Amino acid sequence: MKDLIVVGAGPAGSTAALFAARAGLDVTFLDKAKFPRHKSCGGALSYKVLDMLGPKAEKAINCIGRRLVVYSPSLRSCEYMSDHDLHFIIRKEWDHMMALDAADAGAEFREETMVTDVTPKDEQVIVDVRDGESLSAKYVVIADGTGLRSYKKKLGFTQPYDYMARTVCAETPMDDALIDELTGTVRGLHIFFGVVPRGYGWVFPKRNSINVGIGFSNKYKPDKNQFEIFADFVASLKGLKMLPEDYDPTQGIPAAIPFRKPFEPIGIGRVLLAGDAGGFVSPVTGEGISYGMRSAKIAVQTIIDEMEGTLDSDLVSAYKARWMDDFGRDMVGSGLSLADLVYKSIRRMELVVKMMIADEPTRDTVAKMILGDISYKEAKKRTLRRGLIAGLKSLRV
Ligand SMILES: Cc1cc2nc3c(=O)[nH]c(=O)nc-3n(C[C@H](O)[C@H](O)[C@H](O)COP(=O)(O)OP(=O)(O)OC[C@H]3O[C@@H](n4cnc5c(N)ncnc54)[C@H](O)[C@@H]3O)c2cc1C
Repeated sequence: MKDLIVVGAGPAGSTAALFAARAGLDVTFLDKAKFPRHKSCGGALSYKVLDMLGPKAEKAINCIGRRLVVYSPSLRSCEYMSDHDLHFIIRKEWDHMMALDAADAGAEFREETMVTDVTPKDEQVIVDVRDGESLSAKYVVIADGTGLRSYKKKLGFTQPYDYMARTVCAETPMDDALIDELTGTVRGLHIFFGVVPRGYGWVFPKRNSINVGIGFSNKYKPDKNQFEIFADFVASLKGLKMLPEDYDPTQGIPAAIPFRKPFEPIGIGRVLLAGDAGGFVSPVTGEGISYGMRSAKIAVQTIIDEMEGTLDSDLVSAYKARWMDDFGRDMVGSGLSLADLVYKSIRRMELVVKMMIADEPTRDTVAKMILGDISYKEAKKRTLRRGLIAGLKSLRV
């Protein structure tokens, strides 16, 4: 019997496997895919998790940027230069390196191994895989991404429809010289608020690749489907000369993302959820790689503490208390209300960008919040404090 089985080898699963292996646990992590595999994602990586990367993943960072450009629904724009590096990855390559780092640390990596069932039984958890094999471990971390697969449903896990967002995204190889011409030589984030209600569009120029996408909360019921919304966005980017005329909008791939708050329950007995499987994604930006990695690391540390008998509550309660302390209170408390405030209407999104253009302190606050430099609580406090002045100044924009 293993100490730990991790289901899924995305950033959350590979992080769980890496930290478990480094702590000396006998750990296997399984993924249904053969790596390198595609994962729909913008590929903006928070600098806050750089120190959690193994050497291969660190080396696989595609490019560094500095620029943040925020666009309003009517395409007013506001530019901000970050005082630290912004990191971009191409998920297909980077996720593979994350998994190899965990394997190098001593975790057993099994690709093309689809988990079909997870069953807690006395002091162990049985994990069935597609070819009929049954594995067992003292603990299981499920980090299999979005999607309420039958084994999660059976265990009582949920993914409320309202907590989810729909996205369409494409990662397209492109010559650096052309990217320079289209988006400038300094790489960064181009965020288009309100190209779709309750969501945004983005362009992330990278090294020899450009990432374009849209995402919106399931709370918005559009007249058009998400592919048509993506095609409209691509057409407006062509109008702005940010994409070449021959860019094909049908290359966009759909994916779901949890875009509200972590799910309840977040674990059952000896089984914990991490990453998208647990809904660990910012309700403001949709950033999920760093939250997924942090939740996975906390899950593993909580399991280790329970094995060593140092927890003063049950595993699931201890796990929840720890991620709430680390990032959850800010994400669920202030982040959620901030997201509801900003995404409430197209007019509200227009106003936010106008306030950023008119008022430097507001520009700093919103930019620093998007880049993760200040907490949502701090961003909310500063925005409310500055709101009246910035609102009045925005009338001149
Ligand atoms: C369009 C889009 C853009 C995004 N942009 C960003 C961004 O720029 N920055 C950011 O930080 N976040 C972004 N996110 C969010 C980010 O992609 C996710 O939060 C992150 O991938 C979560 O990692 P994970 O390891 O939990 O899940 P995943 O990366 O989804 O990995 C789950 C793994 O589990 C495997 N799996 C699934 N089922 C099984 C099974 N039954 N058996 C075995 N293996 C299984 C899958 O093959 C997969 O490899 C974006 C998301 C989307 C959809």
